[in-house]
Amino acid sequence: MALREEQILRYSRQILLREVGGRGQEKLLAGGVRLKAAGTAGLTAAAYVAAGGTAVESGPEPLVPGAEGFLVRAEEVGRPGAEVLARVLPDVNADALSARGTGRLAELPAAWDGEGPWVALGGDGTRGVAVFRGATGCPGCFEATTAGWGAPPSGALGVGLGALGALILQRLLLGMEPGLGARGWEAPGVLTDLPVRRCGRCG
Ligand SMILES: [Zn+2]
Repeated sequence: MALREEQILRYSRQILLREVGGRGQEKLLAGGVRLKAAGTAGLTAAAYVAAGGTAVESGPEPLVPGAEGFLVRAEEVGRPGAEVLARVLPDVNADALSARGTGRLAELPAAWDGEGPWVALGGDGTRGVAVFRGATGCPGCFEATTAGWGAPPSGALGVGLGALGALILQRLLLGMEPGLGARGWEAPGVLTDLPVRRCGRCG
């Protein structure tokens, strides 16, 4: 897929990054995620993913308090996420509209299927975590790792976690991440590598 002239203008800042370039931007545009998110972390991630050119297709979950921010107005909390994103995404980035790709971006708890990449946003009450799986990662180990985590944080920590989750998803699409991993996100903005749990088959 060759970039059109208006896309080269729209993504010029990303294309100028050595890690992205024109080829990388084409990969971001070819990717897509199904979103399962109703709150701060997931909706923030969706905004960054869409702005980068990757398609976002929302699930029907009603938006919860904390979802308001880049994409959602306060009075839209309680409405289905799919309905709100269908209205706002054309203004954020029309390239993010058409469903494509097999990726999954979800707030925990969530079910996982499709080829990936997968990014799970979760937490343990005091810190956030992004668990991720690229094409070569074991789905069983991914699910064993996410099983140790609950729902993601809200507030400023959730916003930061959402931005981190979007960046990890984009790096997975660009082939810049390992097949499986987990990163912790703690106040006041400390990023840590966290261990991955092995599934029964990988032992
Ligand atoms: Zn495994």
